[in-house]
Amino acid sequence: MTSEPLLRLQGVMKRYGDFTALHNIDLDIQEGEFFTIVGPSGSGKSTMIRLIVGMDEVTDGSIWLRGKRIDETPANLRPTCMVFQSLALFPHMSVGQNIEFPLKLRKIAHNQRRARALELLELLRLPPNCYAKRISQCSGGEQQRVALARALAFDPEILLFDEPLSSLDYRLRKTLEKELKDLHHRTGKTFVYITHSLEEAMVMSDRIAIMHNGRFEQIAVADEIYSRPVSRFVAEFMGEVNLFDVEYRDSVLTSSDLTIRPNNAAKADPADGKGQLMVRPEDVRFGKDTNDFDYVLFGQLMDEYILGSRIQYEVRTAAGKLVTVEKPREDRTQYEIGSEVILGFKATNTHFIPAD
Ligand code: ADP
Repeated sequence: MTSEPLLRLQGVMKRYGDFTALHNIDLDIQEGEFFTIVGPSGSGKSTMIRLIVGMDEVTDGSIWLRGKRIDETPANLRPTCMVFQSLALFPHMSVGQNIEFPLKLRKIAHNQRRARALELLELLRLPPNCYAKRISQCSGGEQQRVALARALAFDPEILLFDEPLSSLDYRLRKTLEKELKDLHHRTGKTFVYITHSLEEAMVMSDRIAIMHNGRFEQIAVADEIYSRPVSRFVAEFMGEVNLFDVEYRDSVLTSSDLTIRPNNAAKADPADGKGQLMVRPEDVRFGKDTNDFDYVLFGQLMDEYILGSRIQYEVRTAAGKLVTVEKPREDRTQYEIGSEVILGFKATNTHFIPAD
């Protein structure tokens, strides 16, 4: 069943002079979704947000909200969208005045405004005595919550977020990621969020779109993108990865990088051709015997890195390739740096990425 999307972008293209920042973007976002667009700097994320809110015009294509075309509607008449930017709070006003600002614009009566502001403070888990505080007296985290409360006071159809957490320190960012996710559940609003941080996207989102050079490379749930990336770019963008050059010929896999145990490599049957076999570091194991695996590598343990609760190993294979292995810290291996090791993995943990 497909219901009408809340937001639809159809063939959206954006050019700046000769440069094409967005190529023919098609996108449907459903009501109530937490949809995140992730991509490196310059990939076109902010451009897309600007087009949705009306801060910039599409060169071609159309944007629809609840089946109504909005890309020709001026920004101030698109009350349905709101970009959340904490830095845009009014520093000389109180928290209450900031939150009530959109309501005042709509000429809502004073006592109603106050009641709504207090409700929003509660929704954002801010104490009522925050109401009278000046913005400058609020901590960074409180300011973010106030900005969110103000955005919600507009009662927009879609809340758009442009990297709201990128300037915050790690701990506060982690706290606010969880709060945003929780707020999304509690409000049932549609959130469109852009970030260059994959971790942020993974924690919060229902679906993630990976953007690269003004195009979506893949749109899916986080787990799907992580385990079945459609391209090398997505595979590498989604964290540490091992990629081996392989070729399917008559549905048989061959590789100069890997020892493939007979009969074990029969996987799903991609079309014949060259590509890469992907395996994530946490799916590569140290073994005593080649019988333990479907794919085997022989190499030398080069280095060990402790990453908090996980340990990462770097192994150089006989063919000169560096392979990354990751384990939980409690499973730390007893091999000495420099030892010869056998590595391997199961066919079920691999994913074939065809060459472009
Ligand atoms: P992101 O948000 O992913 O970092 P942007 O959407 O800001 O990327 O930018 C995408 C590309 O479009 C970049 O190469 C940027 O230089 C270019 N761009 C953005 N705005 C303009 C503009 N007003 N004029 C010319 N080029 C622009």
